Amino acid sequence: GAADEDAARRTMEVGADDLLPKPLDVAQLERKLIAAGRVTALHRRMHDDARQDTLTGLGNRLRLAEDLEVLCGRVQRYGHSYCVALFDVDDFKGYNDDAGHLAGDAVLRAVARALDQQIRTGDALYRYGGEEFLVLLPEQPIEAAGLAADRLRAAVEALGLPHPAGGVVTVSAGVAALSDDACKPDELFEIADQALYRAKTGGRNRVELH
Ligand code: GH3
Ligand code: MG
Ligand code: MG
Repeated sequence: GAADEDAARRTMEVGADDLLPKPLDVAQLERKLIAAGRVTALHRRMHDDARQDTLTGLGNRLRLAEDLEVLCGRVQRYGHSYCVALFDVDDFKGYNDDAGHLAGDAVLRAVARALDQQIRTGDALYRYGGEEFLVLLPEQPIEAAGLAADRLRAAVEALGLPHPAGGVVTVSAGVAALSDDACKPDELFEIADQALYRAKTGGRNRVELH
C-alpha cells in the first residue's frame, strides 16, 4: 500500500523476502510463489541433510543435540525421566584391518538397521560417532533402559556377521540417565562412556549401567 521505495527497502532489510505493490497482480503473485516454494524446499532439504548421517541415514550429532535440548527442558520442567544407551562396535578396528574399510561400512549400515528395527516407537537412534550409536529412551528408569539396551545388543549379535578375528560382530553398551546436572550432550556422553568402558573391560558384547 505504501508505494515508497525507502519503506519497501526497509521492509526487506528487516526480514521480508519480497514485496508486491497494491493493487495486487495475481499473475505476478503466482510467479513469486513458484520461486518462494523452490527456496522453501531447498531450505528444508538443507536443514534435513545437515542432521542426517550419510552412511546410515540415522540422525547425527546435530540432531541429537537439538533433540536433547527439548528432552532436557522436560526433565527440568516436569521431572520426566530419560535414559541414553551408548553402543560401540567391538573390535571394529580389527574388522576394518582384516576385511577392509568398505566391508566395515557395510557392517555399520547393518548394525544401524538392526538397532533401528529393534527400538520401540518413541525411542530415537543416532549415529554418535565413527562406530558409536546412541539411543534415547524416554520415560524409563535406568533398569528398564538397561534391559532394552540388552535386547538391542542381542539383535546385533543375532545378525551373525562373521568377524575376521573369529565369532560374530558384537556391540557393547553403557546406559545412563539424564538428570539436571547431566543434560548436555558432552556430560551425558561422558557418564554413558564410563559405563561403556566397564562393558569393554568386562569382556565386550555386554551392557553396563552407570
Ligand atoms: P573396542 O572393542 O574397544 O571398541 O575396539 P575398536 O577396535 O572398535 O576401537 P577403536 O576405537 O580402536 O576403533 C574404532 C574403529 O572404527 C577405527 C576406525 O577406523 C573405525 N571407523 C570409524 N568410523 C568408521 C566408518 O565410518 N567406516 C569404517 N569402515 N570404519 C570406521
Ligand atoms: Mg569407539
Ligand atoms: Mg569399538
